[in-house]
Amino acid sequence: MDFSLTNLSGSSAGGEEIPVRMLILGSGPAGLTAALYGARADLNPVVLTGMELGGQVSLTYIVENYPGFPEGIGGSEMVELFQKQAERFGARIEYDTATEVDLSERPFRVKTYNTTYLADTLIISTGATPRHLNIPGESEFTGRGVSYCATCDGWFFKEKDVIVVGGGDSALEEGLFLTRYANKVTIVHRRDELRAGPVLQKRAQENKKIAFKWNSEVTAAMGNGALQKVRMKDILTGDEEEVDIDGMFVFIGHVPNTELFKGQLELDERGYIVAEKYVRTNVPGVFAAGEVADPHYRQVITSAGMGAAAAIEAGHFLDEIVGYQT
Ligand code: NAP
Repeated sequence: MDFSLTNLSGSSAGGEEIPVRMLILGSGPAGLTAALYGARADLNPVVLTGMELGGQVSLTYIVENYPGFPEGIGGSEMVELFQKQAERFGARIEYDTATEVDLSERPFRVKTYNTTYLADTLIISTGATPRHLNIPGESEFTGRGVSYCATCDGWFFKEKDVIVVGGGDSALEEGLFLTRYANKVTIVHRRDELRAGPVLQKRAQENKKIAFKWNSEVTAAMGNGALQKVRMKDILTGDEEEVDIDGMFVFIGHVPNTELFKGQLELDERGYIVAEKYVRTNVPGVFAAGEVADPHYRQVITSAGMGAAAAIEAGHFLDEIVGYQT
C-alpha cells in the first residue's frame, strides 16, 4: 500500500480524492476525543461532523456525571470545549457527512456531500438516533407537537400540558427539564416500574409538576394541523382513551446509525457495530467508538473513553500492521 500522503491539508475541488491518515465519522464525545488523541499522535485526523456537531450531547441541557465538572456543564458548551481541545493539536473538523463508504480495500474510500476521502484508518463514531414509536400520526405531528428533544423544543410548551413517553434515564431527565416550561408533565410508561436510576427517579417523584401514567402506551397521535390528543391504551385492561394534550416527547431509546456499513461490517441483531474490547471491528483498520458500538453503557464518559482507545488502536495499526512511519 502506498502511504505517501499528497494532500493532507486541504479540501478538494471537482471530484479530487483526499488522502488522510485518520478519518473520523461523527463529532460526538467519541469522535472528538478520537480526534484529540489522533492529533496528539501526529496522525492529522479529519472529523466529519455529520448532521449535528457534537451529536446527542449537544442537545442535552446539562451533563452532571462527567468528571471534572462538579457543578455540571451544558451539553453544547462541553462539545465546544472538546472541539477546541482537538483543534488545538491540529485536528480538522469538516462540516460534512459521509454518504457512501467502501471498506473492501485500503485506503478506505469515503464519499461525502462535498468530496471523497481515501482513509488509511477509519474511526466510526456515528452515534445513534432517537427511536420512534411508529404509531399513526407520529411523523405527521413531528415538529408540530411531537418532539424527541426537550432542550430544543421545551420552550414552545410554556404553561402547557405535555406527556413524556418512556421510563429510562432520558425520559426522566428530559421530563424534569420540561417542568421549567410546562404546566404539567405526565410520564407515560409501559410498565409499573421505571428503568431510570434512583437519583433521577427520586427527583422526578418529588417534582410537583410531574405525574406518572403506568402500564400505558400511546397508540396514536391526533390533531388538526398540530397535535391535540393522543390515544392511550391501558396494557393491563386493554381499555383505550383519548387524552387532550399539547405536546408529546418521546424518549424510548435509540437506533444506531449504521445504515452505511451494512454488509461491510459485522453488526449485531440490533444493528450495533460488533467491536472487540480494543474497539476493533472485523475489518482491520476500521475502529468503532461510542454509542454506535455500545448498546450498554452509552455515557459521555464511556464514549469519550472508547474514542481515545480507538485513536490509540488506529495509531498502533498504522505503526505496526501497516508499517507506516510519521
Ligand atoms: P433506555 O434506558 O433504553 O430506556 C428506554 C425506555 O423506553 C424504557 O423505559 C423502555 O421501556 C421504553 N420503551 C422502549 N421502547 C418502547 C416503546 N416502543 N414504547 C414505549 N416505551 C418504550 O433508553 P434511555 O433512557 O434513552 O437511556 C439510554 C442510555 O443512556 C441508558 O444506558 C441510560 O442510563 C443512559 N442515559 C444516562 C443519563 C444520565 O446518566 N444522566 C441520561 C440519559 C441517558 P422498558 O423499561 O419497559 O423496557
